[in-house]
Amino acid sequence: MNAFHATDEQLQQHAINAMELPGQVRDHIKACRKCLNAATTYHTLFTHVHDQHPPRFDFDLESSVIRKLQSRRTSPSQWRISIAAMIATALLVMIVPLTMLSTVFREIVSNLSVWTIYIIATITIVVLIANLIEMHFRFKGKITAIEEY
Ligand SMILES: [Zn+2]
Repeated sequence: MNAFHATDEQLQQHAINAMELPGQVRDHIKACRKCLNAATTYHTLFTHVHDQHPPRFDFDLESSVIRKLQSRRTSPSQWRISIAAMIATALLVMIVPLTMLSTVFREIVSNLSVWTIYIIATITIVVLIANLIEMHFRFKGKITAIEEY
């Protein structure tokens, strides 16, 4: 309570359960027109909010959401095609420059030791496999999350 009127929280508390307020505050609200009006407004507001019916839709919300989800779900064959496209793109990105700059690459490769090539190839394969595994689990998690609905 400030110097003259009850605070907003006190007015709301008065609307919910006035008996929980100190008698001094209750007496003020009873006597003060401004505070009583505000408390009455809060009481009306809370009563109406409490009396509200849960929202109803004039259409079948559940089936329309499920229909939307099913139309977005991609079939396994589509996934296979997109994975194949990704691999083909990756191969193209690797092969085209290799063939175009074959002499340059041949020189570079011939200057590298077998161990260096082995290490680079191993790291590349490990990173690729790790990415594939991560992608697989992320995709699987999303699918189970969708199916739970
Ligand atoms: Zn007041």
